[in-house]
Amino acid sequence: MKQACHYASRLASDSLDRPLSLWERLRLKLHLSMCSNCRNCDNNLKLMRQINTLIRKNHYGQLRLSEQQRQQLHKALDQHDNAIH
Ligand SMILES: [Zn+2]
Repeated sequence: MKQACHYASRLASDSLDRPLSLWERLRLKLHLSMCSNCRNCDNNLKLMRQINTLIRKNHYGQLRLSEQQRQQLHKALDQHDNAIH
């Protein structure tokens, strides 16, 4: 993984736990605009986060994925499987 990607993915996961500083947000945004890999990772991360939040809050009934989210999730899981095998 490239250094810039490594940094961006760390910022993306940090952003789920704490608010990023303006500078960090800009760095992340800039990187995501240039790097489709990290853009996919970021989308997957957000999707997982949404699902996690709903499950934690016991809002199973509200867990309705749009068709796009469903495809995104499948793609993420496929990538995950491919990374393992
Ligand atoms: Zn990247």
